[in-house]
Amino acid sequence: MNKSKRIGRNLVLYTLIVVALVLLLALVNHIGQEEPSETSGSFDSGPLTENQPLIGNPDAPVTVYEFGDFKCPACKVWNDQLFPLLMEEYIDTGKVNLVFINTLFHGEESLLASLAAESVFAQSPESYWDFHKAIYNAQPETDHDSAWVTPELMIELAENTSDGINLERLKRDIDDPTALSSQIEVDNALVTEFKVEKTPTIMVEGIPMTDPFDYETLKVLIDTRLGAESDE
Ligand code: CA
Repeated sequence: MNKSKRIGRNLVLYTLIVVALVLLLALVNHIGQEEPSETSGSFDSGPLTENQPLIGNPDAPVTVYEFGDFKCPACKVWNDQLFPLLMEEYIDTGKVNLVFINTLFHGEESLLASLAAESVFAQSPESYWDFHKAIYNAQPETDHDSAWVTPELMIELAENTSDGINLERLKRDIDDPTALSSQIEVDNALVTEFKVEKTPTIMVEGIPMTDPFDYETLKVLIDTRLGAESDE
């Protein structure tokens, strides 16, 4: 074999090796990016938790986010059925904390309930979760579209759930949305940033669930994260 033929042959061989390596790299990359079907488009991390209502151990290794709307029937179901499971298994045991972000998908009543909740949270963070639960409890079982979120109801619920709330201030905060507009804007911006399209949207750190009612997947996402944390 003459020299130029040998060089030509080596060149073909090297090119093949390079092509094979590039293909392999692309394949590995693709596998790495593939997400489980139970989740959709994940983010590097979840929203900042400061100035948001948080239940559980503030230093828990995993944060679960609920983008919820007090006016949304599915959110009530999630809070009635999934939240207690999460509470018992992960929040009460200090492994997980949960942050609620207002997601205003149902118009004026969503805004009203969110303003009331933000006012209660600003005045007495320790009263927030009782108030949160009281609003969902007040949601009608049927005829969800009828108007039921009213300033009077919000004040009544606050009165019944906590004595640390200045009801006059609550009334002002509901009547004059500018008082808490910055909190509402922060939440609205998070809804946009995290591409929230339905309520409730549940995220484990930066991973949104496709089906928020799939508790087994929620457990897997949390346990995987807890495992990763304990390995670090
Ligand atoms: Ca908020």
